[in-house]
Amino acid sequence: MKPPPFEYFRASNPEEAVAALGAHGGNAKLIAGGQSLMPMLNFRLLEPELLIDISKIASLKRIEKGSSGRWVIGAGVRHRDILVSEVLGNSYPILRAAMTHVAHVAIRNRGTIGGSLAHGDPAAEWPMLALLLDAEIEVLGRSGQRMIEAKDFFLGALHTSLSEDEIILAIHLPPAPVAWGFFETARRAGDFALAGAGVLLETQNGKISEARIALLGLGETPIRVYDAEAKLEGENLNSTNRAAAMEAAKAACQPMTDLHASAEFRVHLAGIMTGRSLDAAWGQAIC
Ligand SMILES: Cc1cc2nc3c(=O)[nH]c(=O)nc-3n(C[C@H](O)[C@H](O)[C@H](O)COP(=O)(O)OP(=O)(O)OC[C@H]3O[C@@H](n4cnc5c(N)ncnc54)[C@H](O)[C@@H]3O)c2cc1C
Repeated sequence: MKPPPFEYFRASNPEEAVAALGAHGGNAKLIAGGQSLMPMLNFRLLEPELLIDISKIASLKRIEKGSSGRWVIGAGVRHRDILVSEVLGNSYPILRAAMTHVAHVAIRNRGTIGGSLAHGDPAAEWPMLALLLDAEIEVLGRSGQRMIEAKDFFLGALHTSLSEDEIILAIHLPPAPVAWGFFETARRAGDFALAGAGVLLETQNGKISEARIALLGLGETPIRVYDAEAKLEGENLNSTNRAAAMEAAKAACQPMTDLHASAEFRVHLAGIMTGRSLDAAWGQAIC
């Protein structure tokens, strides 16, 4: 299928992109890597009159450490850039692990973080990672710049709190526990996951001092399993609290049945993926 006709404008900075978005009042779309937008145009799910190309905006490609110790990753950074970034690999090794599950090499070479966050697919890796890492998303619109916490950003499937005239500038990552686990199940390598879980653990004196668990593909948005996190803190990982965390993950998700898997199977996977990710993170934490 071919896309509907559209006008094309290449923005040279975020301000130009915002002005063009504002001038078209909902009839314009930003295009970054095009890996989600072009299929939507080809299927005529969207028919914008203008595409605003932001792929050449240099300020969107930064990866830098801010003065507060937070890493700032520009919206135009591609999935592949994360895979090969040594500094991010050291501070957030889960990012590199998760990126290997994003689609295929050709898509990872073009697809961007900003595109993934703005697209807001609950089965995608970046929305789950943003929630797991307590990220903040920096956006610019006609009314100025604002920061949106990841927990307030994803409102539903393909639905975020971005306004029509806003562009994502960057994702800000605070320091996070380094011990990680990440597992997902897909029918074929490169497909969107049926279900997945990411875990981060920090330990002190052999006990869990901080636990984070997030799920993907298991509801309308990515999900944090706050109940289970609180119960793990102050303890070793053992068969009792591991089983309780798996049950909490299953209870937290609300997946749909579709052509690929039933809701029941996805709930089952939520438990399994959580258990495996906990094991992996705990194994690293106590080494
Ligand atoms: C076959 C296939 C398999 C895939 N599998 C996976 C997978 O397993 N996991 C996964 O996570 N992803 C997967 N993807 C999606 C891929 O990761 C995309 O790259 C990503 O979702 C969108 O990034 P993009 O840069 O291509 O965005 P685009 O397609 O250019 O844009 C997507 C949306 O985001 C908006 N947008 C883009 N940039 C910004 C910005 N800076 N600010 C505000 N809005 C913006 C656009 O207007 C559009 O609405 C797959 C895609 C395909 C085609």
